[in-house]
Amino acid sequence: MVSLPLMQSPVLEFSENVPLAPFVSFRVGGPARWFCAPGSPEQFAQAQTFARDRNLPCFLLGNGSNLVISDRGFPGLVIHTANYGSIRWEAARAVAQCGALLWDAVDQSVSRGLAGMENLAGIPGTLGGGTWINAGAFDQELKDVILEVYSLRNDGSVVRRSNSECEFSYRKSIFCGLDEWILETTLELKAGGDAIALTAQSADIVRRRQDRQPLHLPNAGSMFKRPPGNYAGALIEAAGLKGFRMGNVGISDKHANFTVNLGGATAQEIWDLTSEVILRVRAHSGITLEREPIFVGEFLPWPREKLEI
Ligand SMILES: Cc1cc2nc3c(=O)[nH]c(=O)nc-3n(C[C@H](O)[C@H](O)[C@H](O)COP(=O)(O)OP(=O)(O)OC[C@H]3O[C@@H](n4cnc5c(N)ncnc54)[C@H](O)[C@@H]3O)c2cc1C
Repeated sequence: MVSLPLMQSPVLEFSENVPLAPFVSFRVGGPARWFCAPGSPEQFAQAQTFARDRNLPCFLLGNGSNLVISDRGFPGLVIHTANYGSIRWEAARAVAQCGALLWDAVDQSVSRGLAGMENLAGIPGTLGGGTWINAGAFDQELKDVILEVYSLRNDGSVVRRSNSECEFSYRKSIFCGLDEWILETTLELKAGGDAIALTAQSADIVRRRQDRQPLHLPNAGSMFKRPPGNYAGALIEAAGLKGFRMGNVGISDKHANFTVNLGGATAQEIWDLTSEVILRVRAHSGITLEREPIFVGEFLPWPREKLEI
């Protein structure tokens, strides 16, 4: 058990019935019953106390780029991490607060000639959300550069975990199964790289994303995890579902593993379409796809007989 330096912090403000769709890349979802945005470890602790006193469930909201929030919203306290987002560098190490954006960490690392996360350019999440799910792309994962992680337990203590103690694997970490809030992630990169070459590499990755992904429509990145030895996009395409749509939600005709909001979609429509995709891909290939974004709150089961195509 360790402590992060706690400073005197102003009293945290809590707002009621805050719409969440603007905070989520899919642009769907209802309101948070309560909402706050702590700016220090002490304020995160204040949020814990607020929720405990009222017996509220809690949900950590990073940049909302891997989320589908129910149309009914979230009936507890949403803790938005955007106000706790600085990155402190010391040589090849950086201590990133959970609300820091991954693309800022990538930009700052490549411009310092530090290698190891240049291929993560363009992932629109925070360090907290990225650590939680071990974000990755183009043969790099955040776990490759994480030295240690500090998180807040619900008894108010702060725990430090080394990289191996975080039990990272493909789109997973120990935090996915724990009720802990990631506060800070320490990164350790490889010094001595060529800043110009690394910057060009990360710019090239961003271009490749723009070429391949339907970034003009609201989405949450890859909709399904990569099944062992296969690709979700290829399986969806093979099942004839590229361009498939139901209501205001569709499978992108640019990239079959992107589900997009075609305008005015509901969270329930995203649930329904992805349920149907899972059924059809299973019928076609025998492989059961697993959704990658986190679905928060209540969703109705998919009544397949309602399908009109
Ligand atoms: C266009 C696009 C492209 C994408 N490309 C990729 C890609 O190449 N690779 C990839 O891995 N992902 C990709 N994603 C998905 C997403 O950007 C990543 O998963 C990212 O790490 C999510 O971070 P976030 O801050 O947005 O988390 P959120 O979506 O806000 O939250 C996701 C989960 O993390 C939890 N969480 C967030 N912060 C904390 C915290 N401080 N402590 C504890 N739990 C926390 C939340 O409670 C939630 O369960 C993409 C998304 C989009 C929209």
